[in-house]
Amino acid sequence: MPLKMYKSGESTSPKIKHIIGIAAGKGGVGKSTVTVNLAYALKSMGYKVGVMDTDIYGPSIRKMLPEDRFPEQAGQNIIPALCQGIRMISMAYFRKENEASVVRAPIANGVITQFIKNVDWGDLDYLLIDFPPGTGDIQLTLCQQANLSGAIMVTTPQQVAVMDVRKAMHMFEQVKIPIIGVVENMSYYFHRQTGEELHLFGKGGGKSLADETGVPFLGCIPIDPQLCQSGDTGRSLFAEQEEKSTTVKRFLEISKQVVDHVDLLTENAKSFMKSFELQWKEMPNV
Ligand code: ADP
Repeated sequence: MPLKMYKSGESTSPKIKHIIGIAAGKGGVGKSTVTVNLAYALKSMGYKVGVMDTDIYGPSIRKMLPEDRFPEQAGQNIIPALCQGIRMISMAYFRKENEASVVRAPIANGVITQFIKNVDWGDLDYLLIDFPPGTGDIQLTLCQQANLSGAIMVTTPQQVAVMDVRKAMHMFEQVKIPIIGVVENMSYYFHRQTGEELHLFGKGGGKSLADETGVPFLGCIPIDPQLCQSGDTGRSLFAEQEEKSTTVKRFLEISKQVVDHVDLLTENAKSFMKSFELQWKEMPNV
């Protein structure tokens, strides 16, 4: 029997409290890196976290988040992989490592629908869905079927990236999914010798996008060779460092903001439903 995903407030178990899309509109801005590190950060804050990698054609999360336990088939359902305490599903488990996914859009969409309906996540506080770049068919399927609480937009400061993120924000707006906020990745490189912050990809693009669109700016992540290395080796920066680096601190700060904003969105949605109910009851009989 296909599994249903449960939205916040629904009491049936198994339950996922919040489902968050992480999107960029453009590839290469660090969306998967941000997804994985937000998952580590939320996990280190004591939450139960799952990650769904929805990039059918170029899944990279499995490399960044290697498994301690493989996914398993349980009847018609899939039990997700377990990766350092984080549950995870990816197309990478259904292809050999260097084999391309040569599938047409309806098949790719079918895989996404199975990820949405047939993965047995168990109880989760946060399910982070790493969106593929762009605003196509898969993105729309996710928006319409995955019961998202909201979306986090990832951009670099560069105008070309900001432009594409703006388009992705428009897509979410059209399907009435609230934006939790904007994260600016690769904001600057900190030059240890001079103590300077070098803005290699421009400055302030993420913040001005957030201001312009009236959504929260969640924070900046610097260009950090250790973060890049952590993605390549699958070793978490959160586990290794006694003294937290600026990057780890930033991810923790951003995660705290995400928790607060998502709670607020959920409260607003609940009170909207209540006021709608009241209006309904107060309507005169005709
Ligand atoms: P996307 O999911 O948007 O395509 P990725 O997360 O795969 O992007 O990141 C693209 C590349 O950039 C990867 O090699 C990743 O390790 C690197 N990267 C991402 N963010 C940073 C960062 N803040 N500092 C250094 N390297 C980064």
